[in-house]
Amino acid sequence: MTQRPAVSLWDSSADEADIVSPLAGDGQTDLAIVGAGFTGLSTALHAAEAGIDCHVIEARHVGFGGSGRNVGLVNAGLWLPPQDVRARMGEAQGAALIDLLGKAPDVVYSLIEKHQIRCEATRNGTIHAAHSPRGQADLARRAGEWARLGAPVALLDRAEVAEKTGTEAFFGGLLDRRAGTVNPMGYARGLARAARAAGARISTGARVTGLHREGGQWRVRTASGTLSARDVVLGTNAYSDDLWPGLRRSYTMIHFFQLATPPMGEAGAHILKDGQGLWDTAPIMFALRRDDAGRLIVGSMGALMGGTGGLSRRWAARRLRRLFPELGPVEFESGWHGQIAMTPDHLPRIHRLAEGLYAPIGYNGRGIAPGTVFGRALAGLIAGAGEAGLPMPISDLTPVPARTLRTGFYHTAFAVNQLIRGL
Ligand SMILES: Cc1cc2nc3c(=O)[nH]c(=O)nc-3n(C[C@H](O)[C@H](O)[C@H](O)COP(=O)(O)OP(=O)(O)OC[C@H]3O[C@@H](n4cnc5c(N)ncnc54)[C@H](O)[C@@H]3O)c2cc1C
Repeated sequence: MTQRPAVSLWDSSADEADIVSPLAGDGQTDLAIVGAGFTGLSTALHAAEAGIDCHVIEARHVGFGGSGRNVGLVNAGLWLPPQDVRARMGEAQGAALIDLLGKAPDVVYSLIEKHQIRCEATRNGTIHAAHSPRGQADLARRAGEWARLGAPVALLDRAEVAEKTGTEAFFGGLLDRRAGTVNPMGYARGLARAARAAGARISTGARVTGLHREGGQWRVRTASGTLSARDVVLGTNAYSDDLWPGLRRSYTMIHFFQLATPPMGEAGAHILKDGQGLWDTAPIMFALRRDDAGRLIVGSMGALMGGTGGLSRRWAARRLRRLFPELGPVEFESGWHGQIAMTPDHLPRIHRLAEGLYAPIGYNGRGIAPGTVFGRALAGLIAGAGEAGLPMPISDLTPVPARTLRTGFYHTAFAVNQLIRGL
């Protein structure tokens, strides 16, 4: 349990302890990492294991960003189907990225195992559920390609998905057995614990307010001290501030909100009974999972409106009533939202912003496994592996056209969706 206000259910329910460690004065390190989410912490863990002196600086606390607020679906691949990744990146690079990210859940679960991370880890797959016949056709296309690549996926028909989810609302689904669920805050804190044990330093409550190059070193400035570092990794993702000019403008920011019921006991035991997490094919995506205590956690795109008593609560109650009328009236004990960085082509980026300054960013709502393997790759780069070994070619920082307008448009569209569907 934490003393500060919790940013999500996971913040209150994670078994792993929070790390509170202020930055005390100036210091020197080989690698400064800004942001203590999956990307920054995986970079730190793997860099420290490779013998690199490194220091994570986090403005708030471990898992303050998307890492402590997400749905906890440890999915394989990207949001795009594999064939579309290859079409956008080119055959060779696309195939290499798909291969890496197809195996990325293995990396997550082996880290959990190796470091005994207490994060409610289950690995019975996840279900991408079809909200319409067209959604099922899209899933069939995904399933066909993943099967061709040898991935353990199964296309479920209507009856099969009903049996697994406990509702007949879906037209079918794609079960991906590589995937699973975690308590994401537990996973982030466990990575932080492992990184510290490997020798990394982590400072919390220290916002980096300036990054300047002086005499071949980066000067990483905070209100409580300045670090000198040879290299810097910015793991700030959708929570980027104005630290580096243009970084925030390189993605569109959307919100995703979730509400959690109290533990449901036997009444909810038939819902996702094998412990899979679920998201659907609707353009305004819906997600559903359970946690170890038996809470149902529902979510969708948009900001949480009106806390646990307002518009979002009405939306969630109505959604659960439609899916599981047998539950009767449902209460919610917590609600929260987080920020997601979307890129125009739905591919992540690794930017080299200046000499020795890198920013992996833009996982498009799928960052648990990708953030973990991108962090590992960044550590490899700093250890001397070379840019050719990175999962993505280095790209320039390009602003998303009309970024503010787009962000505003999505915000409004998602709010209207909650309003209409919550009535
Ligand atoms: C609601 C939601 C649901 C999602 N569901 C899933 C899912 O089910 N599965 C999945 O794989 N992915 C999911 N994602 C995406 C995933 O959570 C993110 O891609 C991932 O957490 C990104 O990790 P990160 O370490 O790159 O960034 P973050 O976890 O966002 O961390 C960035 C950190 O940088 C810090 N920071 C920013 N600026 C500064 C500064 N100037 N100085 C110091 N620190 C700074 C922030 O405080 C923050 O802690 C979801 C995201 C959200 C928001």
